[in-house]
Amino acid sequence: MADFVLETRNLTKSFGGFKAVSDVSLQVKRGNIHALIGPNGAGKTTCFNLITNFLTPTSGQILLDGRNVTGIGASQIARMGMVRSFQISATFGSMTVLENVRIALQRREVNTFNFWSSERGLDRLNGRAMELLDWVGLADLAQRSASELSYGRRRALEIAATLAQEPSVLLLDEPMAGMGREDIRTIADLIRRISASRTILMVEHNLSVVADLSDRITVLARGQVLAEGVYAEVSKNPDVIDAYMGG
Ligand code: ADP
Repeated sequence: MADFVLETRNLTKSFGGFKAVSDVSLQVKRGNIHALIGPNGAGKTTCFNLITNFLTPTSGQILLDGRNVTGIGASQIARMGMVRSFQISATFGSMTVLENVRIALQRREVNTFNFWSSERGLDRLNGRAMELLDWVGLADLAQRSASELSYGRRRALEIAATLAQEPSVLLLDEPMAGMGREDIRTIADLIRRISASRTILMVEHNLSVVADLSDRITVLARGQVLAEGVYAEVSKNPDVIDAYMGG
């Protein structure tokens, strides 16, 4: 088994002549919550898009469990166990909470070439969807329209739908964005519980959340890795302080 469940080697992405991500080597340990932070424009989103193969790198490699997965396509990456949390769009908002998770489960079935067509199949999918909803604290709201959910609960639903894909590595893009303190606590607790059996890479702006949740942190600035380590060390690094102060 590879030491790092997810690794990037000299990952680089140029847009025209501009390097949005430059020689980024990232190492994510199995079972860790690893945060990717940095000021606006640092290259975090581009990095995420490269890792999940929404973007093709100009150069460099992405390794999942030690296997080179560069350029293999987002759905194949998902099949191999690395899934990015997706946002419930307006279309999905008109469906019930349960249907949203069931569709994610069905997508997994299609991805793994395992089709459920019988009634019994549907019952099983609904049962599994309810288990996931129970796990994220939404079982009571299963029959409600997703669009009726509060912001925090909608995020919990997105996480349930992501877990339906049975990822071993979960990528969370600003899981706390736009949330109040209570929702942050709920989602932080959920992320902690997920990390008991999975690896998490997250981009997050809220530094107190990062300090509280992360095992390790990589700081990006101007497309490059500025620092890597535990929060207590990284937050004292003068280069990091400088980058955040706009220096
Ligand atoms: P972050 O997520 O850290 O705020 P991004 O990855 O979104 O940073 O962007 C990094 C840099 O790359 C920014 O300067 C941004 O303007 C630039 N960039 C991102 N995507 C594109 C694109 N498709 N074309 C040109 N420049 C881009």
